[in-house]
Amino acid sequence: MFDFITEEHKMIQQEARRFAQNEVAPIAEHHDQTAEFPINTVRKMGQLGFMGIEVPEEYGGIGMDTLAYSLALTEICKADASHGTVMSVNNSLYCHGILKFGTEEQIQKYVVPVASGQKIGAYSLTEPMSGSDAGTMKSRAVLNEAGTHYVINGRKSWVTSAPFADYIVLFTMTQPEQKHKGVTAFPDRDRSSRV
Ligand SMILES: Cc1cc2nc3c(=O)[nH]c(=O)nc-3n(C[C@H](O)[C@H](O)[C@H](O)COP(=O)(O)OP(=O)(O)OC[C@H]3O[C@@H](n4cnc5c(N)ncnc54)[C@H](O)[C@@H]3O)c2cc1C
Repeated sequence: MFDFITEEHKMIQQEARRFAQNEVAPIAEHHDQTAEFPINTVRKMGQLGFMGIEVPEEYGGIGMDTLAYSLALTEICKADASHGTVMSVNNSLYCHGILKFGTEEQIQKYVVPVASGQKIGAYSLTEPMSGSDAGTMKSRAVLNEAGTHYVINGRKSWVTSAPFADYIVLFTMTQPEQKHKGVTAFPDRDRSSRV
């Protein structure tokens, strides 16, 4: 029974449990009450390799499988669901999406520093009036007249890690008439361009 759990799985589970119980659980109530982002422990999760568990080693991660990711995430969530949400967005929503659909250049630029824990990634789909049904998004990306870059306008909400994220994958409408099929994902690294 459970012979698919290897020694490596047990090691990452134990490491996550040790970190979660020693460093996350004691500060969880404070962060719940103050709503401060736990930047120090999030950075430590990056140093421990928890922010890019399934990302191949050549792209800054630790190259383990989904079971390893689930075991580690469960331990973090047991101590504090907020840390778990930050970790899961960084691993799954951010890194996985770019690894699957990004170019090699995008992976080098946006995944390597985030999976290795030096930077934090975020994912922005939800809007004040648009949740599960992303085809109702009101934000728009329109090409400028010269056709050189997109101008993006709209409001976003519920973006985990947003105030501290170095990079955000932003979803917005380029072809609104096509509803959910008219959505485009933009990697954004120039925070000064956001209004
Ligand atoms: C802790 C947390 C972190 C989050 N982080 C992020 C993030 O990093 N980035 C981001 O973009 N968003 C984030 N979100 C937002 C999250 O993705 C949305 O809350 C989610 O998409 C649901 O949207 P909504 O809350 O508007 O609910 P709605 O989509 O309005 O749904 C409300 C209810 O209606 C039900 N429902 C919806 N559609 C249907 C249907 N067709 N048929 C029947 N029932 C339906 C749902 O199951 C739900 O019970 C986060 C949310 C939370 C709570």
